[in-house]
This record gives sequence, structure tokens and C-alpha cells, in this order.
Amino acid sequence: MRSGYVALVGPPNVGKSTLLNQVLKEKISITGPRPQTTRNRILGILTEPGMQVIFVDTPGIIKAQDEFNRILVDTALATLSEVDVVCFLVDAVKAFREEAGIARESLSRVKKPIILAVNKTDLVRNKRDLLPLIDEYRLAMPFQAIVPISALTGDGVDLLLDEIRQLLPEGPRYFPEDHLTDQPERFLVAELIREKVFHLLRQEVPYAVAVTIEDFLEKPELSRIDIQAVIHVERGSQKGIIIGRNGQTLKEIGKQARGDIEALLGCHVFLGLFVRVQKNWRKDPRARAEFGYRQGR
Ligand code: GDP
Ligand code: MG
Repeated sequence: MRSGYVALVGPPNVGKSTLLNQVLKEKISITGPRPQTTRNRILGILTEPGMQVIFVDTPGIIKAQDEFNRILVDTALATLSEVDVVCFLVDAVKAFREEAGIARESLSRVKKPIILAVNKTDLVRNKRDLLPLIDEYRLAMPFQAIVPISALTGDGVDLLLDEIRQLLPEGPRYFPEDHLTDQPERFLVAELIREKVFHLLRQEVPYAVAVTIEDFLEKPELSRIDIQAVIHVERGSQKGIIIGRNGQTLKEIGKQARGDIEALLGCHVFLGLFVRVQKNWRKDPRARAEFGYRQGR
């Protein structure tokens, strides 16, 4: 199983949304009006046998076209370092020379594998005409792969996904398949909280932790999402460990998780965390399903 985050990067109108729709076949695309900061936003999730890809966009990476000459903002660069693969889209027809320069200048600072997708090849009658452009990019910087595609017709998109598959790390499904269309963001949020518990308490509470999201309330007028989450443990002693002296440990879990959640959702988050004891939840298949608990983590 391979899984991870793929950033779709490119100038406006290059075909990012079209590619996403083509990849997801309109199955799952979480888009919606949401206040943007400069951080990652989940665009959609592709789940296939053996692979789960979480596509994110990175607002602020590349500004309006007239400024396109220059811009990979530092915060956005930091965001890019959080993903596993960067997919850089360029237009096969426009053949910007500047884009090749930008690729070298800015993307070379990103320490992640970058795939160049040359889009809109359906508009190029003779495919050999693409070769000089591809060469230009190849010389500009060492891409992991260069794939000509048409996001519109789907041509080459499978090849692109193959390249992505090869570059993704081995990992679990972040989102259970049957919940994908519903509330993928909730599952990711739960996952992030669980990750913090493991991170902070590696030795003390191995695997006896599940996280559920009880409340996920979007407050657009405040540019904020209010989240209530429960950390489920099996024993009272584990509850004590998670809460910590004077609640310090739970506070730290909340602080770290909130930072990550804000980065992912792209807005402010209020995070309420509670710890609940439920004996032997791991032995109860229904509880396991409910908690999205997966084997091998
Ligand atoms: P975004 O701004 O990067 O999200 O670009 P969009 O996906 O919104 O696409 C911008 C325009 O380019 C739309 O009119 C698309 O239909 C068109 N477009 C995107 N991909 C292709 C393609 O592969 N071939 C052709 N001919 N048009 C495309
Ligand atoms: Mg778009």
C-alpha cells in the first residue's frame, strides 16, 4: 500500500481542476467555499487498490499570471515540503520560456520529487512538436518524470498516476474508503490527533488509542472551524497518561494537532479534546470500524 500527499502546482488556467476531475472521475472532490490561508487545502482523494493519493493545492505558491515570473512564496515553499510529491503542471501550447526558468529557480528549492505534467497535449497536432519544449524543461531542472497529458481527454493521465504511485511512500490509507465521499476531512483530523498522541506518548500507550470527531462545525463568518474530538483509550491509567500532570500532556497534544489541522484545512481551528475510557475497544469489531482503526498501525 502506498499513500501520501501530492501537491498540484501550476499557473492559473493550466488545467489543475480539470486534471483533478479527470483523476477522481467526479467521485470525490472536496471543494467548497472556505477561507484560504496560504496553506494546503485538500482537493480530493483518490483511492485505488494499493494506493491512496491525497491531492492538495497550495494557495500562494504561484500568484497571478502577470507576476508569475517570480513567485514561490516562502510559506508556500514550506508547505510544499510537507507533501510527498509535487506535480508541476505546464501548458503544452503556451510554451512559456519563463516557466522553465521558474521551475529551475524556485522548484529546485523544494526537496521533494517533482513530476512535470505537460498538459493540453490534445491541442498539439503533431506530438513531435512537444519535444523541444520537453527538452527545455529537462534542461531546466531534473524532474523525476516528465509526462505529457491531456487533462481534458484523459490521455496520459494513467501514466501520470503510475509515476505518482512510484514516488509515494509506503503507508496506510489515511481515509477509509467507504467514508471518502462523506467526511474525509474528519478522518484526516482524527488521524492527526492520533499521530500526536503516538508521537508524544510513544512508549506509554501503544496502539490503545482511537480518535473520533464528535463535532465539526464550520463557521465561515469567523473563518474558523470548531472541532470536538474524543480520544478513546482502554484503561483509566491510559487516560491519566494522556491527560498528564495538570492536563499538560493533553494540552500539548491539542496544541500540536491544532497547528497541523489548521495547516490542512486552511483556516483557524478551535479544537476541543476529551479523553474517554472504553474497555477493550480494540476487540470489538464495531468499535474498530467506528474508530476507523486500521490494522498495522
Ligand atoms: P486551473 O486554473 O489550473 O484549475 O485550470 P482549469 O482546470 O480550470 O482549466 C482552465 C481551462 O483550460 C478550462 O477551460 C479547461 O477546459 C481547459 N483545459 C484544461 N485542461 C485541458 C486540456 O488538457 N486540453 C484542453 N484543450 N483544454 C484544457
Ligand atoms: Mg482551478
